[in-house]
Parts: sequence; C-alpha cells; structure tokens
Amino acid sequence: MKKIISVCLVLLTLCACSTSSTGRNQVSLYSNAEINHMGITSFDEIKKEIPISKDKATNDFVLCVADAITANVSKSAHQGEWEVVVFDSEQVNAFALPGGKIGVYTGILQVTENQDQLAAIIGHEVGHVLEHHSNERLSANKISTVGMAVAAIALGVSEVDNKDLWVAGLGIGVQYGIIMPYSRSHESEADVVGQDLMARSGFDPKASVQLWKNMSKLSKEAPPEFMSTHPSNETRIEQLNRHLIVSQPYYLAEKQLGTPPPMCKSKNYPEAID
Ligand SMILES: [Zn+2]
Repeated sequence: MKKIISVCLVLLTLCACSTSSTGRNQVSLYSNAEINHMGITSFDEIKKEIPISKDKATNDFVLCVADAITANVSKSAHQGEWEVVVFDSEQVNAFALPGGKIGVYTGILQVTENQDQLAAIIGHEVGHVLEHHSNERLSANKISTVGMAVAAIALGVSEVDNKDLWVAGLGIGVQYGIIMPYSRSHESEADVVGQDLMARSGFDPKASVQLWKNMSKLSKEAPPEFMSTHPSNETRIEQLNRHLIVSQPYYLAEKQLGTPPPMCKSKNYPEAID
C-alpha cells in the first residue's frame, strides 16, 4: 500500500509541476479558472461578512495606490479589472485573491505612514497571487487529503469515515486554503516579487523595509491579525534590504523616464504629499 501512495503522489507531482518566477518548484493541480472562481467566491463571502468603508477619502487613497500597482501586473497574470475593497475594520490586515480581488482593512492604514508603505503591502499581497501561491497551497491540501484517504483504505477504515475525511479535507481546502497562513517560502517570495512590483509602479522600494519595521514594533505590543499570517522578523527585513539592489534600479528607471510618481492623497498623512 505504501507503494500505491508513493505512486499516486509521484503521478500527481509529475502531472502538474511548474516553476515560480524566483525558480521555486511548484505543484499546481488546479486550473487558473478553478482558482479564480474560488478567489471570487471567497471575496464575495468576505464582503458579506465585513462592513465596507464608505469613507470617500480613504477609498480614493487605497484605490489610487492599488490601481498604480495593478497597472503593472501583466495581462497574462490577470486579465480584466481588479476589484479593490476597503473594509471598515480595526484589524491590521490586507489580502489579494486570484480572480483580481484586493481587500484592505482600514486598520492597516494606522500602520502605514505613506503611500509607498501601503504600496509595499499591496505589492506583497499581489505577489502571492502572481506566484500562484493559493494553487500551490490548495494542491498541497489535496495531495495530503488523497494521501490520507489512501492511508485510510490501507488501514481498513470504513467507507463512511473515509467519505468524512474527504469532505473535511475539501472543506478545509476551499474555506481556509486561500486565506490561511502562507508558508515561509511563500512569504519570502511575495516580499521580493512585491518589492519589484512596487518599484516598477513608481513607489520607493525602501518603504517596504520601514513598513516591516513598523509591523515588527507593533507585534511586540499586540500581534495583529496580519502578523499572525505574516511572520515579521529580522530575516525578512534583512532580505528586503538585500533585495533593494534589484528593485531600486526599477524605481530609478521609472524616474529617469520622467514617469510621474503616483500622488495618492491620504487624510491620515497629508504631510507626506507635497
Ligand atoms: Zn504574505
């Protein structure tokens, strides 16, 4: 039976192996259409559950930053419009979902000090989408579920139990797979991909370093929701600092081209904009 499990896993792996932009091997068992559908459905659920901010100035600010970022996402990664929603919640949180969805909680605007720091957050979240992390995560869930089901048969577990196992596995995958904590390698990949993306969008990539310093300070007092899924540590700040050598030239190239930087006005920090 062990052999069967290994053969199944090897087959699954062989069928759907790909490489992320940073060269990491990935297993993606779902089609883009399936993953986008899950992202869109989850986003609709979240919109029903969490109040949406009606504050025009806040919405304008977040949209301004998000639009500048998504304008630099290639059409091959996402066709069509991006939907950006500001949630009225004290939670320090933000996310992006496959299918072109971005959610920013007003609580996170208490941590960001300027448009560039918000761009670092949105860049990071969109980075997860660009690198197909949801697909990878859900695929990992599926593989473990298949593995568990095969193991259950091997152990002679009854059919009913076996079915429950599948249902539970799938439920977990669909409900929590997309927004559950990403692994460390996903975090680190989203950090560098996000830093490049913000820089190409005209935001100062150095702001990503300061942002995570702010997050780190905050987590010492009371770890916010965002931190529980996004571990901040010295290593992360170090990596972001090191990656500036790659991202800074993108930012400077934009400046040299004479592309005007985004000018997103915020009532939280009006002094940041001349
Ligand atoms: Zn993340």
